[in-house]
Amino acid sequence: MRLAAIRHGNRRRAAIVDGESVFLLPPHAGTVEEIVAQGVEGLAGLARLVDQAERVPLDPGQLDAPLRRFPRDILCSGWNYWEHFEESRGRRAGQDPTERPRHPTFFTKGPHVVVGPHDGIALDLRLSTQWDYEAEVAVVIGRRGRSIPAERAWTHVFGLCIANDVSQRDLQRAHGGQWLKGKSIDATMPLGPWITTVDEIGDPAALVIECELNGEPMQSASTAQMAFSIAQLIAELSYGMTLEAGDLLLTGTPSGVGNARTPPVFLADGDTLRTRVSRLGELVNRVRTTDLTAYVAAGAAAGAAAA
Ligand code: MG
Repeated sequence: MRLAAIRHGNRRRAAIVDGESVFLLPPHAGTVEEIVAQGVEGLAGLARLVDQAERVPLDPGQLDAPLRRFPRDILCSGWNYWEHFEESRGRRAGQDPTERPRHPTFFTKGPHVVVGPHDGIALDLRLSTQWDYEAEVAVVIGRRGRSIPAERAWTHVFGLCIANDVSQRDLQRAHGGQWLKGKSIDATMPLGPWITTVDEIGDPAALVIECELNGEPMQSASTAQMAFSIAQLIAELSYGMTLEAGDLLLTGTPSGVGNARTPPVFLADGDTLRTRVSRLGELVNRVRTTDLTAYVAAGAAAGAAAA
């Protein structure tokens, strides 16, 4: 099943994607966030709701991010492809390890980063002049668990989607050597295009992950190249720490990021970023200059700036 959030009329509706059309689920099915919170056990009931669904053409412009709210910040793994770890080795002097870590690297992103699969990516060069792309597979947790053994990890997965972990490299270095700030700027992380459930994925270590900038291939790898498999990431992250249905875990980016190129390549106004993973679909996002330094009062939609 491919579970999407569709902007339909004034509402955001959960829908099941079927080829070139979508089944808009009845409102009582809930939002995608509510469906995922019910966990993998709820999927069978969801399939039965298709009989009550309205079939409409799939309009990519109406796709919203499948998840916009999470039980906590977005969970992430860094340096999870060794070629990416190696490409940035010389640029990390003094702050980061020079030898390959024995355990996965984890950090988090704030939830206001999320934009839809065809939305604009906010760019504000006053905040940073080093905006970089990171194509990633994102895991949607579908069952609560703590200290989940790797061999049972996939029973805790609802499905997979695609994220681009757009990062500000200078902010990533400026605030104490941790990554939260340079990974949490509003309206910078496209997510989608929908959640593909585990039964539709086949071998999760055989997915092709690609990123194009203005039509130029920048990243291309197989998920087989992950330093730590998705099952290992879940096992280590959940060790002593409860994961909830609805948690999102980014699994790291392969080599080819802009910051590691000579000369470096950073995002600019008007760029088109295409992020693709086999079996999961693609994100197509324009980079748009947006005033992110303007004061935004409580109640305003922080992510709306680039929508
Ligand atoms: Mg990343």
